[in-house]
Amino acid sequence: MTLSELLPSLGHAGLDRQLWPSTTHLDELGRVCIGGVPLTEVADEFRTPTYVLDEQDFRTRIRRYQSALPGVSIVYAGKSLLTTTIARWIAQEGLGLDVCSGGELATAMAAGVDPARIILHGNAKTPDELRDAAAIGVGRIVVDSPLEIAFLAGQVRARQTVLLRVIPGVDIGGHPAVTTGVDDQKFGFTIAGDRARDAVQRILNQPCLSLTGLHCHIGSQVADPTLYGQTIARMIALMADIRTRFGVTLPDLDIGGGHAVPYVAGDPELNLARFAEVIEHSLESACTAADFPRPALTIEPGRAISARAGITLYRVVAVKSQPGGRTFVAVDGGMSDNPRVALYGAKYTVALANRHTATPSATVTVVGRHCEAGDVIARDVELPADVHPGDLLAVACTGAYHHSMASSYNMVGRPPLVAVAEGRCRQLIRRETIADLLSRDCDVPSLPWG
Ligand SMILES: *Cc1c(COP(=O)(O)O)cnc(C)c1O
Repeated sequence: MTLSELLPSLGHAGLDRQLWPSTTHLDELGRVCIGGVPLTEVADEFRTPTYVLDEQDFRTRIRRYQSALPGVSIVYAGKSLLTTTIARWIAQEGLGLDVCSGGELATAMAAGVDPARIILHGNAKTPDELRDAAAIGVGRIVVDSPLEIAFLAGQVRARQTVLLRVIPGVDIGGHPAVTTGVDDQKFGFTIAGDRARDAVQRILNQPCLSLTGLHCHIGSQVADPTLYGQTIARMIALMADIRTRFGVTLPDLDIGGGHAVPYVAGDPELNLARFAEVIEHSLESACTAADFPRPALTIEPGRAISARAGITLYRVVAVKSQPGGRTFVAVDGGMSDNPRVALYGAKYTVALANRHTATPSATVTVVGRHCEAGDVIARDVELPADVHPGDLLAVACTGAYHHSMASSYNMVGRPPLVAVAEGRCRQLIRRETIADLLSRDCDVPSLPWG
């Protein structure tokens, strides 16, 4: 038997191209390598847990969007994963950037992103955030409440371009935490009850605000492109109605992000070619039906660009088989670096990253180190039966909403974020140390070891 014939039975069968960063390969020692760097080397240099990001994968996904959707303006949702370096990649690739807090805005500015290319979101932007964004000259502010309109009108000096966030009434049928296109949730103005139209009226009454279009975002992990088709139809109908009532023809339509990516084998993914066809067809038919000029279209993918570029690298700390129960493989991270399992019941793909093994696989549950029974990383997954303390595990598809959602629960510092490309590592974010954590405690006389 050759090595490659053996490999599928060696616990590496799961290195599915759809799930792992595009540069992932196994070297002759059975080590998982990304960006030309064996993950064992990343662990040696930066310790574990560590988030690893494949720069080439990240950039390639952007380019796929650009070639599948020429003429559509692409704005990256920074909340999925943002550092100054990533903001620079976004700018270099010619994308706009979505931010939804003063911190994300500051990151973009520190990276030198052109403020005109930034969109500010949020259902509860603070007065300071609105004032700063307007002063900086952020390209578009997405208005999400009546008070925001009044506040902006009172604050802005130069004319500020705004979009209005509208709830299109399209239900993606997803987890309630990520379903944002339906009326009974916190974002935006409903079409029902004339809330959206009233808000348009209020904005148009403010000479210093320039309303150029509507925004909506129907939720996350949307794999069915026809849901975007329905969204476009509703939004164009509303834009035509706004023209009739107020005599303004809005030139911009932003349909948000939420494009699905697979986390485990067989998960659906939004197909970009189909998405492009649906967009084209629904824009064409809705605009023809309403005799409305085609608006400039914006989309805001986050996860679809950042998720698969990232993996999390853990070290196995303990392996325990409960009598009559499961085998638990406990690692040195957990819900502090990956809250998505506890939040949404998310599923993940795990691979042994540091060696070959001839041992057949066993069903195990990978758990974290935190003091909660719900601190699970992947339930009932296949790993080589000889997995043991000291092994390295890689978890796929953790680029989006991991670093950005991490906490320091149990006073465990957040992991570093390391970019890999062409055989080299570059640390983008360093590990949060215990000293960092204690430095926020106002009553520590001095560090016990310092
Ligand atoms: C979260 C969000 C996105 C990005 O969602 P993904 O699922 O990461 O693509 C885009 N636009 C808005 C307004 C959002 O809130």
